[in-house]
Amino acid sequence: MELRSGDFIMKENNREEFHTFRGYTLAQFARDDLSASMEDYLEMIYRLSRGEGQIRVNDLARALNVQPPSVTKMVKKLAGKGFLEYERYGVIQLTDTGREMGRYLLDRHNMLEEFLRLIGVKRRLLENVERIEHNLTPEAIQCLFNLVDYLRQRPEIGAELSRQSADG
Ligand code: ZN
Repeated sequence: MELRSGDFIMKENNREEFHTFRGYTLAQFARDDLSASMEDYLEMIYRLSRGEGQIRVNDLARALNVQPPSVTKMVKKLAGKGFLEYERYGVIQLTDTGREMGRYLLDRHNMLEEFLRLIGVKRRLLENVERIEHNLTPEAIQCLFNLVDYLRQRPEIGAELSRQSADG
C-alpha cells in the first residue's frame, strides 16, 4: 500500500486529523504488511531512537531481551521494507516512513494503555496492551482514539467508571 505523505503534510498541524487520515493509512499498511513482531521491533526502535536518532543492534537486543543475531535478522527484514537503514557497525537509522510508522505504533500503544486506565483497569496494564495492540483492525483502533479523546474531555466519566470497577 502506498503511503501518501503529501496529504499528511497538508494536514499535519491538526492532530485529530492526523489520526483520522494519516493514522488510518499507516494502520492499514501495518495490518497488511507487518507481523506483530515486526510492529514490536519498529515501536521499540522508534522509542529508543527518539533521543539520539540512531541506535545499535545491541541496544535493541537488550531492550527487547532477545539475542543480537535475531535482532539483525529482523532489522534486515525491516530494512528490506524501507522502514530503516542498517549500516556498518550495527547502526540502525529509521527512514522517514519508518519514523512515521514507529510514531503511529507508539501512539497506538499509549492510547490503548490510556484507554484501559480510563475504563478502570488497574492491574497488568502493559500485558493487556501487548495482547490487544496487534489484533484490532485499523477502524477499531481509530474508534478507540476517538473514544479516548472524548473521555479526556469528560474526566467525570472516567472517574465514575474507575469507581465502579473498584467496587466490583
Ligand atoms: Zn507496544
